[in-house]
Amino acid sequence: MDLQGIFAKIAADEIAQWTRTLVRFDTTNPPGNERQAVEFIADILKADGFECQFIEHEPQRATLCARLKGSGERGALVLNGHVDVVPVGAGEWQHPPFEGVIEAGKVWGRGSADMKGGVAAMIAAAKAIAQANLPLKGDLILAATAGEEVNMMGARSLATLPDAASWQAVIISEPTSNKLGLAERGVFWPELTTYGKTAHGSTPELGINAVMMMVKVLNEFEKLEIPFQPHAVLGNFTRSVNTIQGGVKVNVVPDRCSVMIDMRTLPGQDHGELLRRLETFLADLESQIPGLKASIRLTYDLPPAETPQSAAAVQQFLAAAKSHCGMEIPIIKVPFATEAAIFVPTLNVPTLILGPGDAALAHQPNEFVEIAEMEKAAKLYAAATVEMLL
Ligand SMILES: [Zn+2]
Repeated sequence: MDLQGIFAKIAADEIAQWTRTLVRFDTTNPPGNERQAVEFIADILKADGFECQFIEHEPQRATLCARLKGSGERGALVLNGHVDVVPVGAGEWQHPPFEGVIEAGKVWGRGSADMKGGVAAMIAAAKAIAQANLPLKGDLILAATAGEEVNMMGARSLATLPDAASWQAVIISEPTSNKLGLAERGVFWPELTTYGKTAHGSTPELGINAVMMMVKVLNEFEKLEIPFQPHAVLGNFTRSVNTIQGGVKVNVVPDRCSVMIDMRTLPGQDHGELLRRLETFLADLESQIPGLKASIRLTYDLPPAETPQSAAAVQQFLAAAKSHCGMEIPIIKVPFATEAAIFVPTLNVPTLILGPGDAALAHQPNEFVEIAEMEKAAKLYAAATVEMLL
C-alpha cells in the first residue's frame, strides 16, 4: 500500500503546536493533574471518530483510552505514552520549563522529550490513519496515561481493560532518538534495617549499636553472590547501596539504621526469588552475629521486561520502517524503566519502545525535542499501524 497520502496528513507544525500545548499543562508528578492534558488529546481525536474513554484515578487525574474501531479480526494496536512529568529541579532553564517555546527546530520544556513530543507524534499518526478511512482489522488505540513517573497507575489500569489480553502489540513513544528498545532492566529497591538498643554515648557497653550492626551487614552484603546471566543488550545486573540513615545525636547509641539499595535486574531474574535470597541472607547473619536483628522491606518493585526480536510485531515494525520510511532501525538498550514493565509481564504482549527525543535529556534541565524527529516518529507509527492492522 502507498502511504504517501497518509504521510501527507502528518504536519510537523501541528505536532510542534500540540507538543507546546501539552508542555503548557503542568503535569508535574506528584501531584500529576493529568486530566486537562488527556482531555485536550481526546478533543483532537474525537473529531476524527475515536471513541474516548477516561479511566478516572483521582478528581484531577485520568488516563485516556481513545479507540478507532476495527473489524475485530485482529487484536488492537496500542500507541501508548504518559503525560505526567518529573519536577523541574533546581537547575537553570534557558527557556521557562512550562512555556513550550519553539525555537531552532525544537520544542523546549519539561516533558518535551519525556514524553509529550512522543505523544504528539502518536496523535498525528492516529489522526492521519483515521482520516484515511481504512478498513482496519483491529482497533487502533491511543492511550495517554497518568502516573507513569511514580507508580504507573495509568498503565496498570489499561492492562485491566476487557480486550487487553488480545492486544497484538504496544508501541511506547518514550524518547529513544527513534531507535528501537525491546528490553529493559527491572527495578528492585529493598530497604534493610538493623535494630539495636539505645544508651548514653558515654556508656556504649550498655547498648547495641545499630549503625555498627549495619556495617557488619554491609560487609557481608558486598560478598553475597546474586546469580545472573549477562544480557546481550542490557549488560549486567547491578546493585548499589545508595542511602544510609542512622543515629540521632553524637552522644546517643543508635538503635536503628537503614539503607536503601538500588538493584537493576535482568530478564530471567525472578524478583520473588531475589527477595527470598535476601531474607535468607539476613536470617543466616542473625544466627551468626550475636545481637544482630535486621529486617528487609521492598520499597519499589518493577519486573524486567523483554520482547523477543523474533516477535511478529517487531518484524512487522522493522519491515514497515524500511519499506515505507526507508529507515533501518537499530536495536538499543532502554536505559530506564517504562510502562513495558506493566504490559509485558501482565499481558505478555509484544511491546516496542521507540520515540523522538534524546533519553539523556529526560529528567534534566533544558529538555527539548526536535520537531523533525517527531515528524519521523509519526510516520513510523502510521506505517506500523498500516502493517499491523490492514
Ligand atoms: Zn517517560
